[in-house]
Amino acid sequence: MHVKKGDEVLVIAGKEKGKKGKITLSIPAKDRVVIEGLNKIKRHVRPRAIGQMGGIIEQEAPLHVSNVMLICPKCGRASRTGNRVLEATDAKGRSQKVRFCKSCDAAIDE
Ligand SMILES: [Zn+2]
Repeated sequence: MHVKKGDEVLVIAGKEKGKKGKITLSIPAKDRVVIEGLNKIKRHVRPRAIGQMGGIIEQEAPLHVSNVMLICPKCGRASRTGNRVLEATDAKGRSQKVRFCKSCDAAIDE
C-alpha cells in the first residue's frame, strides 16, 4: 500500500472526489482505507439490548487505495510516491525502505 494510517490524502475518484482527509484506519488485506469524515454511509440499526436506541447511524466506509493520493507533508501537493532503499541498514542488518514524493523528491517517512 502506498498510504498508511495517519497520512493526509486527496480523494481522486468516487463521490468524495476532490476532498482531503486523514487516514484513520488502513485495511491492507483489502487494499482499503478509512478516511476521517469522508465517504459516510448511513446504517439503520435495530436496538440490540434493552435500553439501547435503534436508529440511523452515520459511519465512514472504507475507500479503495487506488482512489486516493498521498498529500506530501513537505510540498503539500497530491503526489505519486515511490520507494527508495536506504544505504543504511537497521539494527538487524536489514535494508530499509522509505517512501518519497515524486513531486519534490523529499522522503516522506523518517
Ligand atoms: Zn513533495
